[in-house]
Amino acid sequence: MTTVGILGGGQLARMLALSGAPLGLRFLVMDTVADACAGQFAPLLVGDYRDESALAEFASRVDVATFDFENVPAESAEWLSARVPVFPNPRALAVTQDRLVEKTLFRGLGIPVGPFAAVSSRGELEAEVARIGGPCILKTRRLGYDGKGQFRIRPDGGAEASIDAAWEALGAQAGAVGLIVEAFIPFERELSVVAVRGRDGEFRAWPLTENWHVDGVLSASLAPARIDETSAQAAIGHARRLAESLDYVGVFALELFLRDGQWLANEIAPRVHNSGHWTIEGAETSQFQNHLRAVLGLPLGSTAMRGHACMLNWIGQMPDALPLLHEAGGHWHDYGKQPRFGRKVGHATLRADDAATLAQALQRVGAALGREAQVAPVVARLTE
Ligand code: AMP
Repeated sequence: MTTVGILGGGQLARMLALSGAPLGLRFLVMDTVADACAGQFAPLLVGDYRDESALAEFASRVDVATFDFENVPAESAEWLSARVPVFPNPRALAVTQDRLVEKTLFRGLGIPVGPFAAVSSRGELEAEVARIGGPCILKTRRLGYDGKGQFRIRPDGGAEASIDAAWEALGAQAGAVGLIVEAFIPFERELSVVAVRGRDGEFRAWPLTENWHVDGVLSASLAPARIDETSAQAAIGHARRLAESLDYVGVFALELFLRDGQWLANEIAPRVHNSGHWTIEGAETSQFQNHLRAVLGLPLGSTAMRGHACMLNWIGQMPDALPLLHEAGGHWHDYGKQPRFGRKVGHATLRADDAATLAQALQRVGAALGREAQVAPVVARLTE
């Protein structure tokens, strides 16, 4: 009996455990809180990721370790990897934990990226904003996610969007987590490549996904993205080069902006990703199942799509399930979490054989739930 250890016990660990059950796998999940939602399906070890005795217990009970959370300290991943196989490897984790190192890697691999610079003082921030020119975003280098730890600077935005306001908001973090300033990219579209690489180096990508964010948090995803094949293959090629350079094993997502027909890389998530949740019902093999196959050294499953799929994220609290459950291609996912402002509590996936049917289903669900605004950009794309 193989036991997979997962550091982090949120919805990603929960969906990993659910998809691993048919493979006969067991799981052990480690999290800092006792009500982590993966604990409803797998034994949960509560402990701090820096606590060596907790990590030692974790290592003694698992055959292989992986992550649902990318901000596990890289030193803890390193410590574990001396005791048990850890995938993705700790170096890949460390690179993706630091926006500066990550963007420098993109550049080194010839993957286009917008202008950026490290900043460690208010003076440096002012100089870099002037050099970049136009609107910018100040971000923490480490520990930011879902738009947290970010501040938008607009030259014409008045005091609220000024360099002073940005430094006021994030300057105190310059020492502990570091800061990076990036050009604000007026992108036309946001897409992601969700891909998997096996222990033997085999690489597969799901069809590209288009994503819509609200306040920095994913709101909706559509696959396959409506994009020409040459661009799609170029994006997948970027993801492949990254995975190979990091000797990456498992699923990851490369988030990209599309502007004037050109890709600009934003970041990599070194784990199964929210923009790949549609693969549970919309692809031959889900990202969760393929992640487990990859870390266990099993053959990877097909990433072919079944028709068209749209994922809608539920943030804060779950809506009424019934309108969705009435849909022929409706699939409901409640993460079993307490409602809380801004928290990802669940998602739904709508799947259909053709784009027109998917658009109609989205319109019905959007109207029934009063979420017309959430489905509108997806419907617009599908009916273009
Ligand atoms: P991140 O945490 O970097 O993924 O940022 C969250 C979201 O903020 C992204 O998905 C984008 O919608 C937006 N964003 C982040 N960085 C930029 C940027 N440099 N230019 C424009 N939008 C951005």
